[in-house]
Amino acid sequence: MERLRIEITGIVQGVGFRPFVHNLAGRHSIGGWVANDGRGVVIEAEGEQAALAAFLAALRAEAPPLAVVGAVTARPLPPAGERGFAIRTSAAADARTALISPDVATCPDCRAEIADPLDRRYGYPFTNCTNCGPRYTIVNDVPYDRERTTMAAFTMCPACRAEYDDPANRRFHAQPNACPACGPAYRLLDRDGRPLAGDPLAEARRLVAAGSVAAIKGLGGFHLACNALDAAAVAALRARKVREDKPFAVMAGSLAAAKARCLVDKAEEELLAGPARPIVLLTKGPGYDLAAAVAPGNPCVGMMLPYAPVHWLLLAPDDVWVMTSGNTSDEPIAYEDGDALARLAGIADFFLVHNRPINCRADDSVARVFGGKPYLLRRSRGFAPAPLRLKRPGPAVLACGGELKSAFCLTRDDQAFMSAHVGDLENMATYGAYTAAIEHYEKLFAVRPELVAHDLHPEYLATKYAMDCGLPRIGVQHHHAHIAAVLAEHGADGPVIGAAFDGTGYGDDGRLWGGEFLLADLKGYTRLAHLEYMPLPGGAAAIREPWRLAAWVLHDLYGADFVNKDIPFVRSLPAGWELLLAAAAKGLNAPLASGAGRLFDACAALLGVRGKINYEGQAAVELELAAAGRKGRVLPYAITAGEPARLDFRPAFAAMVAALEQGAAPAELAADFHATLADAVAATVRRLAAASGVRTVALSGGVFQNVTLLGAVVARLEQDFTVLLHRSVPPNDGGLALGQAAVAIERSR
Ligand code: ZN
Ligand code: ZN
Ligand code: FE
Repeated sequence: MERLRIEITGIVQGVGFRPFVHNLAGRHSIGGWVANDGRGVVIEAEGEQAALAAFLAALRAEAPPLAVVGAVTARPLPPAGERGFAIRTSAAADARTALISPDVATCPDCRAEIADPLDRRYGYPFTNCTNCGPRYTIVNDVPYDRERTTMAAFTMCPACRAEYDDPANRRFHAQPNACPACGPAYRLLDRDGRPLAGDPLAEARRLVAAGSVAAIKGLGGFHLACNALDAAAVAALRARKVREDKPFAVMAGSLAAAKARCLVDKAEEELLAGPARPIVLLTKGPGYDLAAAVAPGNPCVGMMLPYAPVHWLLLAPDDVWVMTSGNTSDEPIAYEDGDALARLAGIADFFLVHNRPINCRADDSVARVFGGKPYLLRRSRGFAPAPLRLKRPGPAVLACGGELKSAFCLTRDDQAFMSAHVGDLENMATYGAYTAAIEHYEKLFAVRPELVAHDLHPEYLATKYAMDCGLPRIGVQHHHAHIAAVLAEHGADGPVIGAAFDGTGYGDDGRLWGGEFLLADLKGYTRLAHLEYMPLPGGAAAIREPWRLAAWVLHDLYGADFVNKDIPFVRSLPAGWELLLAAAAKGLNAPLASGAGRLFDACAALLGVRGKINYEGQAAVELELAAAGRKGRVLPYAITAGEPARLDFRPAFAAMVAALEQGAAPAELAADFHATLADAVAATVRRLAAASGVRTVALSGGVFQNVTLLGAVVARLEQDFTVLLHRSVPPNDGGLALGQAAVAIERSR
């Protein structure tokens, strides 16, 4: 007989790991015990040598679906003659190193129970087990025990208690365990908060089928929902939510319902049906039949599958419902009943609420598949707060992130905890959500930051928060942070040639950057090249009105004579353009910007795709849509040598104007623009690589959400370079904080 002390780190608490170990020990005739400790799970195991070896291998190979097994270490102990195997219920685990699991989609076993008329959980919308259910959104504090969750107020009935105490049961120590006899319940309210009669779920189904807009409290907040096949209901939701064009996400009642309407490949299916259940951007298929207003003018639609029991109970397999965040345009998602009733009363016809409080909000995550693998656009529910691993441990850092799509990052040793999506930090409501989430993370992970990392933009609320928090500060340039985030994800040190393309970020010269080629490592960077600066006529207004940029480009190319160009854009110039351009030419209220986003804007306006936008990035999104399916030719462009070198797109715009005069189709030119930009990026990278000898390229920034551009750049570079892309955090500013944290840790060494 031999005895081993085995220590396992990773996400191994609250995921059914100890019952799994208990069963495994029985199968391999192992004696001893298992317990949670501060770093994960500890096992003492005694048995025959071969049995121990098999047991050890199975700990990793057969781990429960939600477990993320980190390191497994084993060292010999003197045998103690133990035959039985026990689960030791730990005294309060050490909070300083514990991990909290993200929320997990309802597992097949729980789904079977809620669908089984003979089961005591038939139709029960709060069914969960150690393999599924709420985690992060209900936890107040650590260690993760029922009394420190929003389930504390519910006392388990004897049947639930027996499951909870039985190591062989799927609900052994499932903290949110509940049933209709003892757990939370849904209620149906009218928009004034008065109770409505009838079974809440059945009545909600009936009302949505009849064309109503519902506010539904789910896992991480409220959704606004309606029947996605009902054009009038979708139009009403759009009008009331004051959301003109931005696509709505849709929940399909089954994978079959999603596949009937969209093209779904194997990787997309895995992402859709996986435990994180993000919204997945899918291409509409021949059977697409949703109301036009769901995703207007877009060949793609964001779809997700049910992830909480309430969704399985509300949606029949054939149903498709719009499920959009419960907020008005720019505010954080509502997650408290009173707040939802106050803020959403003008939007929803009725409210489906429940009495299990949501402790912290978590929006749906958004992803797509690129190159056969997930590519995250918003990392939130189902992902946060699982840690990302840094290459080296360092001091505890709070990285404050950016302004749009904001998220922060808190580090502990070699773990980086990215926050759930907070939203655009432009109003006090979002700022309040942001500061509350920071405090919550510091409590959950028992971290007192020693350093704060922040963007250089002095006007970002996130930067102001950093300035006010009284800690040593490390400012990280925006695009350096983007590239560092890619490095951190891949555990790479650099140097790399990083192409960081986005709308705008504050440059170290005080100008607005956003088309940057950096020779970067985690410590620093050199700006080797950038897109040529262009003035923003009228300042920030030019971001909302891309026509101003197109007008500037034409004025720059042809002077005042550009009005004689026989192209639709010139004929449709809004009044007042002369004064605007005259001011810009004098440098009045026309800050210089090198943002790639502005290049997309200018092109979209010139081609008549979009002259004014209703949501951030709309012109670029629609330009990509216009180009869909076309290969595109490479138009001329110029690279001006220098330190930094400059990439000049004026020749490409001149070629587009000439083509428009010849009657070229805007869609063809949109494809040409993408091909040209991809070619210019690749050519610039090759030139910089030749000079520097660096053979690794990192691509980041919100512009690389555009997979047409991303695909074209990767195709041109992957033969000769190692190309690093984002996978675990978004390329947009939602991933910025990871890079800020990595840089701060490196600089503090
Ligand atoms: Zn389950
Ligand atoms: Zn019960
Ligand atoms: Fe950015």
